[in-house]
Amino acid sequence: MNQWENALSDLDEVAGLLDIPEEYIVILKNPRRSLIVSLPVRMDDGRVEVFQGFRVQHSLDRGPAKGGLRYHPGVTLDEMKALAMLMTWKCALVKIPYGGAKGGVICEPQGMSHGELERLTRRYTSEVGIILGPEKDIPAPDVNTNPQIMAWIMDTYSANVGYSVPEVVTGKPTEIGGSEGRFDATARGVISTIEEACRVTGTTLEGSTMAVQGAGNVGGNVAKLATDKGAKVVALSDVSGGVYNPDGLNLWAVAARILKTGTVCDTPNCENITNEELLALDVDILVPAALGGTITMDNVGAVKARMVAEAANAPIVPEAERALFDRDIFVIPDILCNAGGVTVSYFEWVQNIQSLLWKEEDVYEKLHEIMVYAFYRVLELGKQRGINMRAAAMVLAVDRVTKAIKARGLYP
Ligand code: NAD
Repeated sequence: MNQWENALSDLDEVAGLLDIPEEYIVILKNPRRSLIVSLPVRMDDGRVEVFQGFRVQHSLDRGPAKGGLRYHPGVTLDEMKALAMLMTWKCALVKIPYGGAKGGVICEPQGMSHGELERLTRRYTSEVGIILGPEKDIPAPDVNTNPQIMAWIMDTYSANVGYSVPEVVTGKPTEIGGSEGRFDATARGVISTIEEACRVTGTTLEGSTMAVQGAGNVGGNVAKLATDKGAKVVALSDVSGGVYNPDGLNLWAVAARILKTGTVCDTPNCENITNEELLALDVDILVPAALGGTITMDNVGAVKARMVAEAANAPIVPEAERALFDRDIFVIPDILCNAGGVTVSYFEWVQNIQSLLWKEEDVYEKLHEIMVYAFYRVLELGKQRGINMRAAAMVLAVDRVTKAIKARGLYP
């Protein structure tokens, strides 16, 4: 099954737990808008290359659409549909007034120059601009996109409408309206949920061992924040492979290695391991923070961690996730675990609209409060209904979205 079929299967499962008319589920199985664009870009060698891009808005029922923009060779329309649907659930779960969206461009950004990436981003923004806007759809960073790319989106959109519109995109540099605390917000949210999961399972993050797959914005910051809180991060990986040290990684050495070579591999005083070996390490907490579909029925049996924090979107296929729940492994589902990013994106949008600048400590405090509240709502509902954390999170989220559809009614 591909990611879209997995997302539909999650929705079908939750439909059976909710007393709602089938027609709502039928509506939610169809993204509201899917736009496919062709992006001709002048490359540095003078050639014109045409890239394919997507923007999917899954739901606009609770507010404007919100979701990241991904640059990756594996991007597909089905993947965008699945990730946009996940965003709908995530926003509803943490009760922020957005629907879900996702965008992507099929490209290999590591092989592109700064200028090529800028031209690609500006052309993408212009082509999908007809459905973007602070009241329509607000992109944010995702895999292989970053604050610089968000700045180009903001500038291109603003140039096209004729005035500055910082609130059209979040995760921007702070110099042009980015929020304090957005850069590591997703990782902070992940850590907040892990800390609460440790509390309810009678352990502590301090002193726990952790393996993190993905050394990007989310995974890299999770490793750093967990280390700051006294956890022992023994393994970290990227697309090229991973590194392992049972005594705990020296993250300064890993960061220096990434700066020098672009990968964590061959960091001094570490053993090189594969991504598959990382997933099978005997650690307290496993954090998949790279791509979707990493843990499947083929490798789930090898997972030895006591807790899995889904920092990436859809890192575990539904069947494999059920296998982890059946083994009493505490799984923090993605729509809860990584909701910190979109939460602080919402704070950024609110600040931009009001021309306000919040202090970093206020952002972190409000973020922590929302994450902890959502965590316990999910946990309590799960206990009340005798269902796992994924099912409970989905019940809460889908219920909120269907109530919004019901309140608004069907037009015409
Ligand atoms: P990123 O581009 O900053 O980092 C991705 C990391 O994953 C890199 O280290 C890359 O080398 C690694 N990677 C890529 N392919 C891999 C593979 N096949 N095996 C192992 N590692 C691989 O991206 P990010 O923003 O950190 O996003 C990571 C995940 O978190 C994605 O699933 C994304 O959708 C999700 N997410 C991100 C945010 C955010 O705010 N950035 C918010 C919520 C969820």
